[in-house]
Amino acid sequence: MTRLTAGDTNLKMPNRPNLLEVRNLKKAFSVSPGPLGGRHLKLRAVNNISFDLKQGETLGLVGESGCGKSTTGKLILRLLEADGGQVLFGGQDILQLSRKQIRPLRRQMQMIFQDPYSSLNPRMRVGEIISEPLKIHGLAQGGDIRPEVLRLLDTVGLTKEHYNRYPHEFSGGQRQRLGIARALAVRPSLIVADEPVSALDLSIQAQVVNLLQDIQQEFGLTYLFIAHDLSVIEHISDRVAVMYLGQIVELAKAEELYRAPRHPYTEALLNSVPVPDPNRRHIYKPLSGEVPSPISPPPGCTFHPRCPYARPLCKEAAPPLEDKGSEHLAACHFSEEVGKFRNPVRR
Ligand code: SF4
Repeated sequence: MTRLTAGDTNLKMPNRPNLLEVRNLKKAFSVSPGPLGGRHLKLRAVNNISFDLKQGETLGLVGESGCGKSTTGKLILRLLEADGGQVLFGGQDILQLSRKQIRPLRRQMQMIFQDPYSSLNPRMRVGEIISEPLKIHGLAQGGDIRPEVLRLLDTVGLTKEHYNRYPHEFSGGQRQRLGIARALAVRPSLIVADEPVSALDLSIQAQVVNLLQDIQQEFGLTYLFIAHDLSVIEHISDRVAVMYLGQIVELAKAEELYRAPRHPYTEALLNSVPVPDPNRRHIYKPLSGEVPSPISPPPGCTFHPRCPYARPLCKEAAPPLEDKGSEHLAACHFSEEVGKFRNPVRR
């Protein structure tokens, strides 16, 4: 992947207004007690998170599976209902809107899924799949629909030969292009991309990521890009938020977060990316320990059972997410020490 780097996009992005402001967002799921009975338990999937997204920006949301990043994306689009907090889109709290009131906003906020096949109707041809949202939102009518669909196919690298085909006739990468064309059809301003390339081969991943960057430039899109792959996140993001057990533990410009992480979890994640040089693999350090259950998270800092920097204070007091300088936020009592365990091969 060699196109824009995070640094390039930072330079190209002047101070723009926020398109999205997430404030104290919360979501817990009730977990049934099992065959032996007992009380229902609460799983805090998203626990009081806040962040902003500027117009035209890409914010990467990264963390191990089950950390709450996909739930966050769904809450923002109201595919799931939040328990509390605010999601301000263009200044309007969409969590307070009725289903009817939110309908016109739906067009502006689209989602790209990991598995586009499951969201494409297998009985519909490509032309119908992409023209459907155009008709629903009144964006094209009659004879204007087909040329608009062909233009969208061209934009995502498909051709007019694909117009009459069914989704099963496409490869994984082509189906993701189809999902992108359908999302683009309604001219959104925000796209939540939930692991959009993780099911694809490496070479195809690069093509789809490059396509997402191209259309971002062309259509002025803003992305919340959710992934567990740190390389993909680094390549596409202007800023990165790291989630652990339903909370944001670090948030900074991508270049800075990768160069000098201020949270031990981020450092551990970066260390756990395999080194491609076989002579230097001894430095590869997998992240130790299991993610604790979000049903009964550890007290104090929830990362303390896995943290090489942990001290007694960490078990007693949860560290707040605070600015450690230059808008580099981290939730760690000892963030100034982070770097001691950094794999020197990674940077
Ligand atoms: Fe580790 Fe303590 Fe920082 Fe938590 S607060 S990440 S346990 S050093």
